[in-house]
Formats: sequence, C-alpha cells, structure tokens
Amino acid sequence: MAGNNSGGGSYPLDDHVKSVARDLQHRFAQMSNRDQKFDLHVIPDLLSQPVVPEPPAQDDKEAQNFEKYLIAMSHIPLNYENPGLLDEALQQIPLDRLSQEAEEEVELFQAKAASLGRSRPEWSHQECMVRALLRWFRRSFFTFVNNPPCSECLSPTNKIRNVAPTPEERAHSATWVELYACVTCGAYERFPRYTEAWQLLRVKRGRAGDFANVFTMLCRALDIRARWVWCQEDYLWTEIYSEHQQRWVHVDSCEEAWDMPHMYYKNWGKKMSYVIAFSREGAVDVTRRYVGSPDALLPRTRCSEGVLKFIMEEITNLHRPKYAPDGETRLRLYREDVAEDVQLRSLWSATLEQSRRLKAAAAAAARGGRSSPDNKSSANMMGSPATGDIKRPIPEDAPVPDVPSLWPTYGP
Ligand SMILES: [Zn+2]
Repeated sequence: MAGNNSGGGSYPLDDHVKSVARDLQHRFAQMSNRDQKFDLHVIPDLLSQPVVPEPPAQDDKEAQNFEKYLIAMSHIPLNYENPGLLDEALQQIPLDRLSQEAEEEVELFQAKAASLGRSRPEWSHQECMVRALLRWFRRSFFTFVNNPPCSECLSPTNKIRNVAPTPEERAHSATWVELYACVTCGAYERFPRYTEAWQLLRVKRGRAGDFANVFTMLCRALDIRARWVWCQEDYLWTEIYSEHQQRWVHVDSCEEAWDMPHMYYKNWGKKMSYVIAFSREGAVDVTRRYVGSPDALLPRTRCSEGVLKFIMEEITNLHRPKYAPDGETRLRLYREDVAEDVQLRSLWSATLEQSRRLKAAAAAAARGGRSSPDNKSSANMMGSPATGDIKRPIPEDAPVPDVPSLWPTYGP
C-alpha cells in the first residue's frame, strides 16, 4: 500500500491534487451558473442542480438499508478483478477474429468521417473491439434462456417451481434452482441460477442480468474500463469508457445495443427510478443518462438526493484507492467525476426543457388545430437513435478543453 494511502475512511488526496480539484470544482460551479443563466426558462429541478452530500440520518432506517444494499451491490463488479480468472475469460474470446473485425470497422468509420470532411472517425479501434465483442457474445457465445429446453429430447419445458440447489450447484454459486418438466418425455430439467460470472462463463446461458454480468467481465478481460449498471426496476446492462470520445458509453449485451441509452424509455416504455453504475472505480448515479423524459422518471423515495450522493461517494472512497493508488490517476478520475456530474445535470436540464417544449407544442396544436408543432423538438425526440445524447460539433481548430468534451449541445 502506498505511503500516502493512509487516509482512513476518506479518499486520500495529496495537497496538490486537492488544490487542483478545488479549482476545478470552483470553475465547474461557475460554468454551471453561467449555463443556468443561458437557460432561465429551464424548470428548476433538483436533478439538474449540484447536490451536497449528507449521511443518512440516525433514525432513517430506510435510507440506511438502501445504503447497505448499494454497498453490497458495489462488490459484485469487484469479483471481475482477479487476474487469473480474467486470463481464463480471455481464453474464451476469439481475439484474432474480433481484432480483424474491429480493424475493418475502424476503416469504415474512417471512410465515413473522410466523406463528411471530419478528421476524426466516430469510433476508434478500442470501441470497435467492444462492438465486435458484443456481436460475437450475443450471436455466438451466450444464449438467452427463458424456459430451458429438455436436455434429453430438446422439447420445450414448463416451469414447476423453484427448488434448493444441490451442494455442487451451490458450490458453483447457485442460490436457487428453477425446476422444469419436459412437455414430451416428462424429464425434469434443472436451471440453476448462478450469480458468479465465472460459472456463467462456463454454462454460457442465462437471462438479461447474466448477460450483463458476463459481458462486463469480458470487457474487463480486454482491459477496458467497464461498469456494471443496475436499474432498480429489474434490469442490468454495461457501460464502457470510450477514451476516444471521453465519455461512458451504454452497452446492452442482451439486446446487442450500442450507445442507445434512451432505448428503455423510448422503445420499451420503461420507467425508472434509480440507475446506478458500479465498478472498481466506485459508484455513480447515472439515472439521468437513461431516463430521457421526466414522465419516465419514477419517484425516488428511498433516500434524499443528498444521501444518495453521500452513498455514491462513500462507495467510491471504499473501492477506488485500491485501484488508483497514485495521485495522477486519482486526479484524472476526479476530473472525470466532476465532468460527468456536470454532464448528467445539464442533460437533465435539457430533458426538462425538451419535455416542456413538446408539451407546449402539443397544447398549441390542440388549441389551434393546425398550428405548427415544434418540429425541431419532435425531430430530436423521435429521429436519431439516442446516440450519446450530447454531441456538439467541435470545430477542428478548437482548443482542447481541460475538461473532457462532455459539454451539452443544448443552450442558446
Ligand atoms: Zn424431453
């Protein structure tokens, strides 16, 4: 353990890092104010404002339980961080094939960029490698199972009930077993519900949560920064960090979806309350990236926003120092945290604004029958796939900002 790593419970930062961090925070606060001035008509809302972290109150049992629950969840992606097991996972990936596919795709992105007169392709080799992994994983490696087919005659099965795992199944991380009966031969089929990515890697089948579990681990095997994303409304997926675009990218390995954070509310009509991204680098409330409309946000009642912020920082302080022992890495991650916080708040402001405009246009159309709807908003809402949410064309000669290019596209 490094000598400067003795900060006890708090996240250790040396003085230099602290002063740079304070400066950054101050500048972000100013930028944030300026941003709000540009958008005075934005509906004030807590989720678009900076939040001061506060620990759960002594008598707030519900908030304390949520805290315990999230801390327990935060250990799941730490299971991936085992070099021997990651090596084993790597053996399963057809690296040469994926690498070649990635090469070819990068060339396509480069050609596309050239034809549009851009100097940078949209995605680099790193992201194309994950895209190739995603295709291989969904199409050839991992199988979605609802009712498992009969292993005797391959006929469909019907579920009978849940049963306890055998000692062997339990040793392989099964917490319970779904028992099915074959409709043709009557044989019983056991479907152990494994929790460990390592065991799921061996059985190569499962449901959405299992997809997210194994796929996130495989991204880690490729040494890509990856988050395991938990949604309170019973769904899980992955985020990977794109060095090329300097932002976290949504990846749903069960749906073979890349960078479509709005697919859940737009395509599925899914409403969500809490979406939390966990990794060895800590925890982040990323709900606002996925809830693309205030109507799709369910009440957040498990704790106050300040307490949630506190829990996110608590988890980050718990895990990050072990993986980011040096000041330089910690500073880089801190800058990313601040930038992502600004990004998510700005995104939410834009979401509220867009919703307001759509509702105003709908009301005007209802009043006047033929009066023109807000074409710009509706095109934004329904037109392009929800790639990235935030894309502002960057002039070729623009200075590279100190802060990653996460600044929102909306504004004056
Ligand atoms: Zn059968």
